[in-house]
Order: sequence, then structure tokens, then C-alpha cells
Amino acid sequence: PPKGELTASEVEQRVPEASDPPVKVAVRIRPAVGDAMLRKVSKDSLCCDERKFTFDTVFESDSTQEDVYQSVGAPLVKDALCGYNTSIIAYGQTGSGKTYTMWGPQSAMVDDPSVSGLQGIVPRIFQDLFSKIQKEQGNVDGKKINYQCRCSFLEVYDDKIGDLLDPTQRDLEIKDDVKNGFYVENLTEEYVTCYEDITQILIKGLSNRKIGATNINSKSSRSHIMFTCIIESWCKHSSSKCFGSSRTSRICLVDLAGFERNVADNASRQHVKEGKYIRKSISQLGRLVNIIAGRLPDKLNEVPYRSSRLTHLLRESFGGNAKLSVICTIRPDHKSSSQSTSTLRFGLRAKLMKNEPAVNEITEDDVNDLSDQIRQLKEELMRAK
Ligand code: ADP
Ligand code: MG
Repeated sequence: PPKGELTASEVEQRVPEASDPPVKVAVRIRPAVGDAMLRKVSKDSLCCDERKFTFDTVFESDSTQEDVYQSVGAPLVKDALCGYNTSIIAYGQTGSGKTYTMWGPQSAMVDDPSVSGLQGIVPRIFQDLFSKIQKEQGNVDGKKINYQCRCSFLEVYDDKIGDLLDPTQRDLEIKDDVKNGFYVENLTEEYVTCYEDITQILIKGLSNRKIGATNINSKSSRSHIMFTCIIESWCKHSSSKCFGSSRTSRICLVDLAGFERNVADNASRQHVKEGKYIRKSISQLGRLVNIIAGRLPDKLNEVPYRSSRLTHLLRESFGGNAKLSVICTIRPDHKSSSQSTSTLRFGLRAKLMKNEPAVNEITEDDVNDLSDQIRQLKEELMRAK
């Protein structure tokens, strides 16, 4: 191609497909333990309680981690490398497969996915991301692209933000920021250069997560967790001394706490209190989605992101500039039918949210404009003196 124009492979990697919807909703049905009343009726719809629900994709109970990755994770990696903010959120009742879908068994994380096959979406994303970065890094067709990635891992427990990479930090504040939307003050950030760096962070963070230590579901997660990776890239012609262009994108991966239908009679007070908070935060999330989807009149004309830490943290993902995938996980048994219906309803409303994805880019022209402005301001200052 003529000088300065992108090659076909760069176009493929850096320019996203316009037809891709900004909010996608997938449903994953976990394997049944007993009877199953839910059935998939086509590749994108299923029947629950005699009602048909249609989404972007429905994964049957025999779907593999790789199937889910190819459909939900792989497009995210492409978008993130293009400079879009991207998010995946797993939503569903306790024991429906959120944690399994997002992370997979911890032992599988240290394996190569082709070996274990059980790795969840998150480790697969980073395996793919770093292999693409390693291919692109350095000189490609006379262009030099450099990447820098940093990660953080937090949990929201009882409406407080805890740092999973430094458990001594239990109540961090969210600060709004003109350039990047928001950030969590003092949250540990670690630079990562390869997949192994990520698995170490994931395993460390997951082991610090709050889990219910009581009865029935002893492994049930009692906090919402969010893993974030910020990718910065610089692209310029190898021969040029100019700035080129720079892109920043945030990958945001969320696994919600387990919400239970009934709390067991012998549950501890702590467990009951946790459950109360979890239900409240999930209902605030549902309300947020309703408002963004335009279902409820919003008199204040402002979305109440600040109503909870969780909704505040999802500001870019829900109704913002991120490309979002929601994975609704459901149990196919009869006992879960009302929970399943409510999860599916959440998915339908989420689908109505109107995100507006935009590439976060600073180009050479932007830098020149800013330089001009600085020069003008300096001149004005000089004149004023
Ligand atoms: P949640 O995080 O929604 O509470 P989990 O991911 O912990 O649920 O899943 C509950 C149990 O079901 C775990 O033992 C998990 O391994 C198993 N499980 C969930 N989804 C699947 C699946 N698609 N295939 C096989 N096992 C699954
Ligand atoms: Mg879980």
C-alpha cells in the first residue's frame, strides 16, 4: 500500500466491524443435576416456562469452554486491541456457572488450554491477547507498535471496594476522572507482559475473594469481583520521530456474587446480612439496566450510577462507551425456573441498552492541536505580563 496507509492485516486488526452490536447477550445453560425443564429451541433462543426468549447466542449444557470463548471472548480481544473499552459480565443465580464460565477451575489456569480444555473465558482472553501482542509488537510493515498492559483486581463486598491484590485495603474510593471516566483510588496495579504474569495475579486475587464459609453452598461467592486490564499502545512509522498515535482501552471482567433464592434456616447472621446486601446490589443493578434501557421514566435525566459501588464501577460498561457482553448463566432444573426467568428477563433488558463504543485514541493531529493551543496560551500569558 502507499506510504502511510494501513496494510490489509492492519486494517483487519485495527478497524472493527461496524455491524457488531455494542451490547451482546448470551445465555449458557449449565448441565442438569436432575430433571431439566429448559430447552434450547434454536441457536439463539430457548424456552422457559412456556415462554420463548431470544438472545444473541444460547449455549446448550454440552457447550465447551472453547465454544463460549470463541463466541464471546475472541471478539473482545480484537476490539480491545483496536482501542475499545470492553466488558464481560456473568449474571445468574448461585450455582449456575458464573465462576466456572469466567475463570474455570483454578488448576486449569496454569495449563495450556489445549491440554485441559477447562479454562474459563478470562485466562483464554489473556492467552490470546498476549500472543497477538507478541506478534504485533516491534516493526510491522514499517510501523512500530508498542504495548503496555497493567491489571487490577477488586471485589465489592457489602458495598465496599476491597483490593484483591492487597487484602489490607478494604474500603477504597471511586474517583471520577475527566479523561478516563473513573478510577479506584490506591487500587494496586501490576504491569504484565505475558500470560504467566496474568495467571499469577488471577490465582492470587481469586484466593483472596470472600466466599461463604457456611452450610449448603460452602464455595458460593459472597462478593462481586472485577478484573481489569488497561492496554496502552503507541503506533508510529519506524522512520518517524513524531508521536504517531496512542490508544488506551480497558478490559473489564465481572463475576457477580451468588444470589440465592432461599437462605437456609441454619444460616449464620453474617450469611443473612451478606445475602441482604447481595440482593440489594443485584436489584440496584437491575434498576440501572432498566433506566438505561429506557423502560422507566427517569425524571432526573441522569443515570444513578452512584447508587452503589457496583453500578458506579460499571459506568462504562452499562450505557457507556464500552462494548459489552452479558453472559446469563442458568440452571435448567424445575426448582430454578423462577430464578431462570428473572435472569432471562435481565438479559432481555440488558440487550436494550444503547452503548456507544468509541475508540480511545490520541492522534498526531490531536497532539499538534494541543501543542498549538499551548503555544497560543503562552503567547497570551506573555502579552498579559
Ligand atoms: P456460580 O459461580 O454461578 O455460583 P459455579 O461456577 O461455582 O456457579 O458452578 C457451580 C458448580 O457447577 C461448580 O461445581 C461448577 O464446576 C459446575 N458447573 C457450572 N457450570 C458448568 C458447566 N457448564 N459444565 C460443567 N460444570 C459446570
Ligand atoms: Mg461464583
